[in-house]
Amino acid sequence: MSRKVIIAGNWKMNKTVAEGVALVNELKPLVANVDNAEIVVCPTFTTLSAVVEAAKGSNIQVGAQNISWAESGAFTGEISADMLKEVGVEWVIIGHSERRQYFGETDKTVNQRTKTALAAGFKVMLCIGESLEERENGTTNDVVKTQLTGGLEGISASDMENIVIAYEPVWAIGTGKTATPEMAEDTHKACRSVVADILGQEVADAVRIQYGGSMKGANSKELVGQENIDGGLIGGASLSAKDFSELIINAVG
Ligand code: PEP
Repeated sequence: MSRKVIIAGNWKMNKTVAEGVALVNELKPLVANVDNAEIVVCPTFTTLSAVVEAAKGSNIQVGAQNISWAESGAFTGEISADMLKEVGVEWVIIGHSERRQYFGETDKTVNQRTKTALAAGFKVMLCIGESLEERENGTTNDVVKTQLTGGLEGISASDMENIVIAYEPVWAIGTGKTATPEMAEDTHKACRSVVADILGQEVADAVRIQYGGSMKGANSKELVGQENIDGGLIGGASLSAKDFSELIINAVG
């Protein structure tokens, strides 16, 4: 089963409009020859429009970091599918651990946002991952099973063509601690088997599962080289065009 690698940069709450455009303009020539990976950058809402414009005609796609489950109305601080459509975004990240940790995101809201995003024609990076305590308790596989079961509730096999799962152990995000390739591979395999239980083996074999957690140029090849790791969701190393391009080229070059 060949699954195209996908490497996405989550800029989080970093980069002004000018900085984001400069990053993309620097990144474009560095990754112009990469044709064996999908490349996505996910700026803040205020920077999306300018980055979509800067990325036009390149092999860089653009994603948002969240999407409201509601169509419109009294939802202060939320951004709707129509608003993201209007600026030309293709992808949305849903359920990042920082949203779960600081903003009350749950498997239920992840599921609601995912359904809204798919109905509007977006592709989704659905994030899951265990805390350090859960890893140390030995409950990692139960945690990802619960998150996948809740997040994918009511999602069909054909919907899955537009979903990428991002497995991100929370203890490895922004900490410099990376899961070993073997550790990550074991959990990716467990995630794939949960998808097989929910939606069948064919869907499970086709779905892409990204790894996230302190991935960088020095470890991207080994991680993405694992059988069940189909790319990365990158925080820190996506904030520099040089580091991000090096990570991508090392992973798939
Ligand atoms: C992330 O936040 O999705 C992430 C993986 O961050 P970092 O690469 O900085 O660990």
